[in-house]
Amino acid sequence: MINRPSDTADRAAALTGALRLDGADAAAVAALLHAHGEPTLPRITDDDVTALRAVADRLWDVFAAPDVGTAAGLLNGLLTEYAAPPRLSAHDGTAWHLHADRGDEASWAEWFAATSALALAVVLAERKSVPGGLCASPTCGRPFAMTGRGAPRRYCSARCGSRERVAAHRRAQK
Ligand SMILES: [Zn+2]
Repeated sequence: MINRPSDTADRAAALTGALRLDGADAAAVAALLHAHGEPTLPRITDDDVTALRAVADRLWDVFAAPDVGTAAGLLNGLLTEYAAPPRLSAHDGTAWHLHADRGDEASWAEWFAATSALALAVVLAERKSVPGGLCASPTCGRPFAMTGRGAPRRYCSARCGSRERVAAHRRAQK
């Protein structure tokens, strides 16, 4: 589901980080999806997690892409593989939103690939720049989406940015 593409792009970054860096299990994935907009706690199996992790590996490459052309090529590959023709839906009493997954027969992994790729593609086209990055803090490295206006960010969060500024200041004083 795409409500605001930036929210869906943030969810893509959060789930990619959880699967790649935190070894998230089925319960953790379900909780994360619920926290990022699924109306109820979804039922996620261990097989779902294995398939989701393979998609997270592909999305990791998008967040790590060195330039916008590389990111666009990777996203086009994901869209070709996973996306269906876009359609508007208001299922289950939800507000109107855009779907690009294959519908009820799609697995969680296929849904995650299609929705994440479409949202990151919209962010890329809006910014005309890479849709995300990996946190420049050497102790973090988490993926993040380039949501919000302004210059490209280097850090996943204000917390990582200020920690690195303090560290750079200390290094400069020595
Ligand atoms: Zn960080």
